[in-house]
Amino acid sequence: SAALTADAQRAYDLDREHVFHSWSAQGSLDPMVVTKAEGSYLWDGAGNRLLDFTSQLVYTNLGHQHPRIVAAIQEQAATLATIAPGYANGTRSEAARLIASHTPGDLDRIFFTNGGADANEHAIRMARLHTGKHKVLSTYRSYHGGTQLAVNVTGDPRRWPSDNGSTGTVHFFGPFLYRSAFSATTEEEECQRALAHLEQVITLEGASTIAALILESIPGTAGIMMPPAGYLARVRELCDRHDIVLIADEVMAGFGRAGRWFAIEHGDVVPDLLTFAKGVNSGYVPLGGVAISERIYRTFAARAYPGGLTYSGHPLACAAAVATIETMEDEGIVEQADVLGRDVLGPALRDLAARHPWIGEVRGTGAFWAIELVRDQETREPLAPYGGSSPEMAAIIAGCTRRGLIPFANFNRIHVVPPLTITAEEAKEGLAILDQALAEAHGA
Ligand code: PLP
Repeated sequence: SAALTADAQRAYDLDREHVFHSWSAQGSLDPMVVTKAEGSYLWDGAGNRLLDFTSQLVYTNLGHQHPRIVAAIQEQAATLATIAPGYANGTRSEAARLIASHTPGDLDRIFFTNGGADANEHAIRMARLHTGKHKVLSTYRSYHGGTQLAVNVTGDPRRWPSDNGSTGTVHFFGPFLYRSAFSATTEEEECQRALAHLEQVITLEGASTIAALILESIPGTAGIMMPPAGYLARVRELCDRHDIVLIADEVMAGFGRAGRWFAIEHGDVVPDLLTFAKGVNSGYVPLGGVAISERIYRTFAARAYPGGLTYSGHPLACAAAVATIETMEDEGIVEQADVLGRDVLGPALRDLAARHPWIGEVRGTGAFWAIELVRDQETREPLAPYGGSSPEMAAIIAGCTRRGLIPFANFNRIHVVPPLTITAEEAKEGLAILDQALAEAHGA
């Protein structure tokens, strides 16, 4: 590394003077300046090239500066940069058609939002109005967004400061064999016990009070826990039996990340509402939305839906979505992500686990992987406490960055979530750096 350029130094200084950052104590921040990005790489303010194993916040699914997405935004800006949501517009209509063509079942009506949190807020509002009920069930170890209701259905420590008990949210345990809440020892046992637990939560909370159950088809930030076979289908049955709207949050796992257009396809289940954001347009312009089933759509056919946003279906964001989805179709990106997981990331991470005493478990699919780091294979004591960090985790992260890799870290986990377009060579380069950083931190 070298000193920042003069422009980068100015960006840094003005940031520290004026930019208020998410989720952070402002006084202790030291943000990396990024001046340029391309494909799977970005460049810091000193001119160092770094491999991006994070896809930023798991959204640049087609990598940085994809020429088709950039051109689509430029063309849309030159044609019609913006138009209010009440008008019909060709780009917005086409984005909705393309999204609906890939969502499962009859989820064919698209309400556009600015991102994932507001998509979940609106999905829950729809569920409450549709059922006339209020409570929302969601899992511990989940993330659904930063707005008041979305952060309260969230099951991670970011909920705690905003939880005043007034949002009608109730948490339950999803299946997670490695840290089983049910003392299960097999996937089948974990699945059965998690379902029995959920059924009991529904009984004790009262099915007549529960509007919706929201879950990530594969929980992302909380640790990429693959649901056991049959779990999602049984959740679907429970929701049907109790008139509970099933909301699949596909904000992180959707649009190819999990080697399918939507992660819920792994469970062969059709939810009532499906929320998306991030990968829908590789995050080049803020966009999220709710895909709505026919049944719920009909609730709002004659009765007004009481919700909206100034930028719902913004043409620049929709142009980026059209270009992203068409590129994914033309270039077989979803299949590419599936193969990347099966042939490259999965085998390499399992090999890493066989050699590193800290790796307790490797989980994932597609371009969506987590390694769970523990001090002790027997006790499974996390390498950093829940909700916190540790000197060991900091050493791994620093070791990666110093060698030219940006890792995604959360508590005691490193996630491997590169762009779906990463080449096998680039992926191997990043995994070799992770290998070295783990060995160095463990030896230190
Ligand atoms: N849902 C999931 C599963 C997410 O991973 C995220 C963001 O990480 C969100 C919702 C919130 O999305 P946004 O930050 O666009 O509001």
